[in-house]
Amino acid sequence: MNTGSLLSLVRADLQAFAGYSSARSSALVGDVWLNANESAWANPADAAGGARRYPDPQPAALRDRLAELYGCSSEQLLIGRGSDEAIDLLVRALCEPGRDAVVTTPPVFGMYAVCARLQNAPLIEVPLVDQGDALVADIDAVIAAALGGNTKLVFLCSPSNPAGSVIPLAEIERVAIALQGRALVVVDEAYGEYAEQPSATTLLSRYENIAVLRTLSKAHALAAARIGSLIADAALIQVLRRCQAPYPVPAPCAELALAGLGAESLAITTQRIAKIKAERTRLQSGLVALPGVVRVYPSQGNYLLARFADAQGAFDALLAAGVVVRDQRAAPQLGDALRITIGSPDQNDRVLAALMARRAAA
Ligand SMILES: *Cc1c(COP(=O)(O)O)cnc(C)c1O
Repeated sequence: MNTGSLLSLVRADLQAFAGYSSARSSALVGDVWLNANESAWANPADAAGGARRYPDPQPAALRDRLAELYGCSSEQLLIGRGSDEAIDLLVRALCEPGRDAVVTTPPVFGMYAVCARLQNAPLIEVPLVDQGDALVADIDAVIAAALGGNTKLVFLCSPSNPAGSVIPLAEIERVAIALQGRALVVVDEAYGEYAEQPSATTLLSRYENIAVLRTLSKAHALAAARIGSLIADAALIQVLRRCQAPYPVPAPCAELALAGLGAESLAITTQRIAKIKAERTRLQSGLVALPGVVRVYPSQGNYLLARFADAQGAFDALLAAGVVVRDQRAAPQLGDALRITIGSPDQNDRVLAALMARRAAA
């Protein structure tokens, strides 16, 4: 596999694009920095003065730490403002507006379609298939659809939001092989920490046209810091860097993220992931036992997708008890479904109590 064929997936007009040359990116050395029109003094509210200067576009310590965490090299990793920014960046850099398509598997996380729409990239939707006990991606149909259109990007969400299913690595490999030289297969692992199978980053050394999205927003509890990662071929990462905003990672966010990935924080995060998985099992059994619950799909994320005989009634009962869940009824195939995030044990008890009380009242 040669990188030449991978870089040919980048929009022709961007392949030689140099992007913005930031004040921090050149190899200049000095102790008086008067090249970026920054203030000579710190803001009075910024005691340590850490915010006075523009930040490193890709804070090196954080990048190294994330690469270590996700099992890749630093050169294969791009930090973005959430993985949302990475999705947008991929669509903008690879899809020629009006021509190059994006494949998605609805019902699924909405940002792939939003970014495609903003870029005027045709959207090819390959619905998940309901096997009764699981709502899963139809990999043969994904491959066929991608080969049929001018597809540049295939977004595979694993674990799937909202369906909860994972795509086996062997299936992801199958897509990558079929689309070699034609499209990039992006595996969104926003919930990878809750899943039972290894990350698709373990496939990167064998398939240059696989990319993986990770985030600190979910299991790492840092949604407001907006730190997401794109992991892909190093040459592709370089191209995408040139298309990204000049200073995408605010210094206070980078600092918080680095602290949040320190040994102590990480040990606590790991315990919480185990707790959420146990609560997921408990909430699932609790829900299944309630009349009026038609189906609860098995989930490898920190949420459960459930079908109700009366989804409106269930939604209202939860809301009346002060519990806000995600109404999925506008999504294809999910006209009777709600997505419930796994909370603390107390919060999950409130979900069950509210749905139970509704039954007693009925
Ligand atoms: C929440 C979520 C994201 C967004 O993550 P950020 O890093 O916060 O932008 C991406 N993909 C999926 C599937 C998600 O559910």
